[in-house]
Amino acid sequence: MAWRFALMIDPVASGDDRADYLDTFTELDPAAPALTVGELSTQRGDGIFESIGVVDGHPQEVSAHLERLAHSAQLCDLPEPNIAQWRAAVALAAERCGAGEAVIKLILSRGVEHGPAPTAWVTAAEASDFSRARTEGIRAVTLDRGYSLATPAHAPWLLLGAKTLSYAVNMAALREAKRRGADDAIFTTSDGFVLEAPTASLILRRGSTFITPAPNAGILHGTTQLSLFEHLVSRGFTVGYETIPAETLPAADAAWLVSSVRLAAPLVAIDDAPLAVDASFTASLNDYLLSPRD
Ligand code: PLP
Repeated sequence: MAWRFALMIDPVASGDDRADYLDTFTELDPAAPALTVGELSTQRGDGIFESIGVVDGHPQEVSAHLERLAHSAQLCDLPEPNIAQWRAAVALAAERCGAGEAVIKLILSRGVEHGPAPTAWVTAAEASDFSRARTEGIRAVTLDRGYSLATPAHAPWLLLGAKTLSYAVNMAALREAKRRGADDAIFTTSDGFVLEAPTASLILRRGSTFITPAPNAGILHGTTQLSLFEHLVSRGFTVGYETIPAETLPAADAAWLVSSVRLAAPLVAIDDAPLAVDASFTASLNDYLLSPRD
């Protein structure tokens, strides 16, 4: 990964509004060590993050990402982020991204063990190349996430709606999908309902209606899915959130995994059931996702 920028943030309280936040930022050499060994993000994955897509220097959907960062912080009992401070850090990072596609990551960790404050930083790096996934499509297998549809409501300590740094399970699911000959996974509940992919939301097409699993705390509410739904409505399509039984997946007319950096990757098969790919329609979705979006 080609790193372009790293910035440590001294987080100020939400509501501590300033003319600028420059004295709370420290730019670092992105290739140099920066964290102390007592960091709880590295010891326990105890923190939250966001990945923002950047196209030709424009950071996409910054407000939606900052809102989700604040939501994750609340679920994890982390201090409420100062949105203006994070927005200023994103703007600095975006200035270093240059032409092409990049990714800005925002990280808010619980901090150093026994330390007084959270640790926060922002990085910018070149994005991975998803052009093949966007045009040729990907294969997915369904994998049991190990909890039922009712679990998030009665076990909030599982932090299922938060974008935490604890992605080891998500990465293990991706490796399992690859062992099964697929490119990606779609998590299902133990009682057979569709959730999301380890790093993406799922959108299904039925005729002129597009649906996605309801984000009832069991999954992340994807910023890309939200943005695409707005776009689809502006093109006259119907969109909706549903509780989707996994057994209905093969009946979809088309399906995509969508996320901030990959954008829309059409699914060519789910569990060996082939799905049709409308290449020009998918290209129109990715054209929209590559246009500047706020
Ligand atoms: N679900 C999970 C588990 C994710 O990790 C991601 C993105 O990384 C998404 C959904 C899609 O979110 P977004 O569209 O905001 O990138």
